[in-house]
Amino acid sequence: MNAKKANLSGELKKYFGFSTFKGQQEQIIENLLSGKDIFVLMPTGGGKSLCYQLPALISEGTAIVVSPLIALMKNQVDAVNGLSSDDGVAHVLNSSLNKTQTKQVFDDIKGGKTKLLYVAPESLIKDDYLDFLKEVKISFVAIDEAHCISEWGHDFRPEYRNLKSIIDRIAEVPVIALTATATPKVQDDIQKTLGMSDALVFKESFNRPNLYYEVRPKVNVDKEIVRFINQHKGKSGIVYCLSRRKVEEFAQLLQVNGINALPYHAGLDQKVRVANQDKFLMEEVDVIVATIAFGMGIDKPDVRFVIHYDFPKSLESYYQETGRAGRDGGEGHCLAFYDPKDIEKLEKFLAQKPVSEREIGLQLLNEVVGYAETSMSRRQYILYYFGENFDPVKGDGANMCDNSSNPPKLKEATSDLKKVLTLIKDTGEKFKSKDLISVIAGKENAVTKSYKLEQTSHFGFGKEEKDNYWKTILRQATVQGFLQKDIETYGVLKMSDKARNFLEKQSKEPFLIAEDREFDLSQTKAESE
Ligand code: ADP
Repeated sequence: MNAKKANLSGELKKYFGFSTFKGQQEQIIENLLSGKDIFVLMPTGGGKSLCYQLPALISEGTAIVVSPLIALMKNQVDAVNGLSSDDGVAHVLNSSLNKTQTKQVFDDIKGGKTKLLYVAPESLIKDDYLDFLKEVKISFVAIDEAHCISEWGHDFRPEYRNLKSIIDRIAEVPVIALTATATPKVQDDIQKTLGMSDALVFKESFNRPNLYYEVRPKVNVDKEIVRFINQHKGKSGIVYCLSRRKVEEFAQLLQVNGINALPYHAGLDQKVRVANQDKFLMEEVDVIVATIAFGMGIDKPDVRFVIHYDFPKSLESYYQETGRAGRDGGEGHCLAFYDPKDIEKLEKFLAQKPVSEREIGLQLLNEVVGYAETSMSRRQYILYYFGENFDPVKGDGANMCDNSSNPPKLKEATSDLKKVLTLIKDTGEKFKSKDLISVIAGKENAVTKSYKLEQTSHFGFGKEEKDNYWKTILRQATVQGFLQKDIETYGVLKMSDKARNFLEKQSKEPFLIAEDREFDLSQTKAESE
């Protein structure tokens, strides 16, 4: 790539007006310019776009930027064109363009004017586009929102699956893939599907130390939320609900209670939606009650709370949605209301889906339940989910959750951990949590039968304790690094070296667990209704 590698800081200043790079931007850009494949995992707001925009602007030829949403592409194109006195530095290529417009785009590319060409993956497969792109100089390919490749991501798009072969048909150029979804499973999927297992990986921490995480049982939820918002009077916040109907009802309920709130969901008239969003951004309204349709590309720095009326379908979504709080580094309270019945509803909904989607959906829900019911540091739980180790005592933001500021009693479970690890070892490290618990509790199911686990000495060793106790041990043993979830099969629990040492050396170090919370709300609800 013939690029002006030297004075990157100067180019940064010239095009973007920033005097320093953020995080690892500079290394990422240098490596991309030297021709390497790059994989960037950075939380939202980390500054991913600049990692391909700047090198594109200073390289010879045009960079292809694959992005899933036309609306987001348009914003980016306008932003990039605003950086330069020349219109046409960035273009979108898609079927909404008429012949004259398409010709203009092609001419600008041929003339060397266009540095960034934004395309959706479904447009990229069009033969006449491909034929054209094969003939021109391409500097590199950037794949934004790369998690769309993975069924384990929160936004799977089948069109992303074929990107590798399409890119190979266009040019042999470096590829930079970027995402804010960093679970090890998604990361593995992206690298394999894009054939970039050797890519240089740049990963930034997903820790948001200024966010306070809290889960409350979903009892008297309407009143609880009204009270919470009144305690944060005049501050900006978002309340997420799963259904459009609930959004409308709850926005009304807040209004009746004197709270300055408006609804937002994809079923509202476009004009109303935009108006409501703008009012929130302009601070004419304090609270937006919304479905997950709200938030993409919204950058309001002083959102002080994000409330989940309903729990989301995955921890990933939870992280993204709560991530809209406290962007300015100030207070950000993330409060979620949890009722196991809501999870059952989501499970029923999944039952109608094709098998693979259902299996994945259930695994993701399982993590959500784990988060909701855990008594561990919630930050540690979330970060573990993103493949990060977090010290719940000394880590940045360690005391910023309900469990940490009000710690549960700890209980020693060293000998039970030994029993569980021995079971996993003896049965060949090939079972998921749910089946291990069946063995421990002595309950037959299809898997225990087919592997004749009833005949082992382990069967039923823990039936005196509740299943939830064993679930807690498995979960906390995983987060504390004794067990690992197999990437290929996801749910299958494997032993780590730490577990082997623990068993072999008869470790003296106690294994402490915080007993997870019981969430049977039927009784409490009956009392309060
Ligand atoms: P992401 O795509 O990772 O969510 P963006 O690319 O939208 O993040 O960047 C987030 C914000 O950070 C933007 O407002 C952007 O202008 C700003 N930003 C990016 N790089 C820098 C930098 N080097 N210095 C200052 N601000 C930056």
